[in-house]
Amino acid sequence: MIIILKEKPDQLQLDSLKKWLTRQNVTLHISEGVRQTIVGLVGDTSAIDIDIVKQWDIVDDVKRIQEPFKNANRKFHPLDTVINVSGRQVGGGGFTVIAGPCSVESEEQIICIAESVKASGADMLRGGAFKPRTSPYAFQGLRAEGIRLLLKAKQATGLPIVTELMDLSQIDLFADVDIIQIGARNMQNFEMLRQLGKCSKPILLKRGFANTYQELLMSAEYIMAAGNPNVILCERGVRTFETYTRNTFDIAAAPALKNLSHLPVFMDPSHACGVSKFVPSLALASAAVGADGLLIEVHNNPSCALCDGAQSLTTQAFDELMVKLRGILPHRYISK
Ligand code: PEP
Ligand code: MN
Repeated sequence: MIIILKEKPDQLQLDSLKKWLTRQNVTLHISEGVRQTIVGLVGDTSAIDIDIVKQWDIVDDVKRIQEPFKNANRKFHPLDTVINVSGRQVGGGGFTVIAGPCSVESEEQIICIAESVKASGADMLRGGAFKPRTSPYAFQGLRAEGIRLLLKAKQATGLPIVTELMDLSQIDLFADVDIIQIGARNMQNFEMLRQLGKCSKPILLKRGFANTYQELLMSAEYIMAAGNPNVILCERGVRTFETYTRNTFDIAAAPALKNLSHLPVFMDPSHACGVSKFVPSLALASAAVGADGLLIEVHNNPSCALCDGAQSLTTQAFDELMVKLRGILPHRYISK
C-alpha cells in the first residue's frame, strides 16, 4: 500500500499518522520528493482500512499495490535510479557497454581484450574468474588468479571491472572489483543476496533462465531490503522449447522491467542467443527498446576460447557494433 501525502504535510498530523500505521504492524518507507511525499507500507497491509487512512487531512490518496516488491518498485521511486560505478554513471539516460571474454584465460589474453574493447569505446571490462559450468570437467576459471589478472587489466586500461561471485567464501577477493555479477544460476541464492545487501558495491543481477520478472525483482528486493540500493538487472535469455538458439532472448524484458522498476536494466544478447553472428542485431534491438546497457562477450580468438567461444564477438566485430550503436543512440551514448 502507498500513501500519497498532500504538499507540505503538517508535522503533527504526520507524526500521528506514522504512530497509527506503526501500530498496524507494518514498516514505513518514506520517500520525500521535491513536491510530494510518499509513504510506502511494507508488510501485511491486508487488514488496513483505506478509508481510515484517508481521514487524515494530510493524505491525498491511498493505493493498494499488488506487487510484493517495494524497494525495487517504480511506484515508490518514480525516477530512474542512477548508480555510480567508480565515477561512471549507470542508468538515468546514458548507455553503458560492458564487454570482455567469458573467462579470463591469461594475462596476455585479458590485457589484449581490455585494450581492444576500450579503444572501441566499451565503458567497463567483464571477465569471469569463477565460472559456473554445467560440467564439472569443463574449465572452471582461473579463480583467484583470474581476479588478479582482471585487476591488472583495470590498472592498465582504467576500465572498471565486472566479475561473477559464485560463493560468499570468495568475497574477500572482490574488494577492488567494481561490479559484482550474480549469475543466472545464483539469482535465487537468497542467503548470498542478503549478505550482498550489507555492502554498497553495485550488483549486476542476472535473470535466472526459468524465472519471471517478478521473481527477478524479488531477488533484487533481497539485496535492497538488506541495505544495498545499487542493483542492476540483467536479461540473459530464458529457456523455451526453441533449441536453435542457446536461450530465447526476451526483448520485452527491457521495457517491462523498466516499467515495473526504477533500477537500470541491461541486456546480455551473448548468453541469450549463443551464436556470435546474431549478437550485433540483438544488441542494437536492446538499445532500441530502451535498455540502459549491454553485456557483450568479446574474445581476441573466439575459436580457441576456453568458454563460450561460439557466442563471442571478435574484437573487430565488437568495434563494428560500437559504431552502429553510436549511430542509433546519438544523444544517449555517453562514451567516446
Ligand atoms: C556469464 O556471464 O558468463 C554467465 C555464466 O552468465 P549466466 O549466469 O547468465 O549464464
Ligand atoms: Mn559466458
